[in-house]
Amino acid sequence: MRLLLTNDDGIRAPGLAALAAELAALGEVAIVAPDRERSATAHAITLHEPLRVEEIKRNGRLYGHAVSGTPVDCVKLALVSLMPEPPDFVVAGINPGTNVGTNAIYSGTVSAAIEGAMCGVTSLAVSIAGPGEPDYAGAAAFARRFIQNLLAHDCPKGMLFNINLPDGPAAGVRGVRITRQGRLMFQEEFHKRTDPQQRTYYWLGGRLPEPDEGDDADSTAVRQGYISVTPLHYDLTDHAALDRLRSWSFE
Ligand code: MN
Repeated sequence: MRLLLTNDDGIRAPGLAALAAELAALGEVAIVAPDRERSATAHAITLHEPLRVEEIKRNGRLYGHAVSGTPVDCVKLALVSLMPEPPDFVVAGINPGTNVGTNAIYSGTVSAAIEGAMCGVTSLAVSIAGPGEPDYAGAAAFARRFIQNLLAHDCPKGMLFNINLPDGPAAGVRGVRITRQGRLMFQEEFHKRTDPQQRTYYWLGGRLPEPDEGDDADSTAVRQGYISVTPLHYDLTDHAALDRLRSWSFE
């Protein structure tokens, strides 16, 4: 079995190293990740400049390929050019900070997994809630068990899963909850400041509010101490609106 690992935090991120260490037990691991942090780049790709690729070594051995692009660039490049054969799984993460609710829309971690699924490869995005020290090893162990579960259940190829672990050691989680993507949004604020040339600039900040959705929402599960597993798709069609619109006359 082959696995492609990537992230949006950069190839040197500890969450990626934890995934690599754990998932090597399942098969051959290839790492193709951004050469620097590219969090919140969503599904962006690089068209107007070349992608540079650098081999990164650890302990004298090839660790992975660092790419001067976005997480989605990394998945595309890996699947189309760098990997001799397509992987069986794409795993993105492990991201420090949850990707629940509408955050999943902005997330480079989730988008890397979406790209994998779009290409027909079953893909996982894995993130951990703060503010505590992330238990990357525990989260990676869960990712491994989850993949083993997918194999045991003979899951169809190309499925997409957004996995979020609660704050604290993975050993302390209350269980796994299968959830829907919620609507939770950051409470955003722009910090208005002045630069040394006396020009005004704005810097986006904010915080994730307390979940106010049902127990079946991703954010609620994580807040209650459960691992949230959300099966996603990237078809943006409003299926409920199809019949209504089709009944209209646009003459
Ligand atoms: Mn990130």
